[in-house]
Amino acid sequence: MGQRSTLSSGKPQRDNRVNQEKTLEGLANNLFFCPSCPKNYFNKNSLVKHMKLVCGVEPQFGCPYCPQRFTQMFSVKRHVLKQHGVAYP
Ligand SMILES: [Zn+2]
Ligand SMILES: [Zn+2]
Repeated sequence: MGQRSTLSSGKPQRDNRVNQEKTLEGLANNLFFCPSCPKNYFNKNSLVKHMKLVCGVEPQFGCPYCPQRFTQMFSVKRHVLKQHGVAYP
């Protein structure tokens, strides 16, 4: 005569999924970091391009006023203007 209570009660069914917000952290997970410099890119092709054209090449543009060398022409211009106070010819 025992009344069996098979009701498993007391467990509120929650379906609270973690809000997938677009946080900065989330964005960072999608970033591609250059292994040789602090640069990062949102898409891999850009990173590959950067590594090929910027990071992976020897600096070939020399400053005419000092021994510093740069990978990009605009870097030389910027450097010359900033460090030597003259406009690059
Ligand atoms: Zn780099
Ligand atoms: Zn210089």
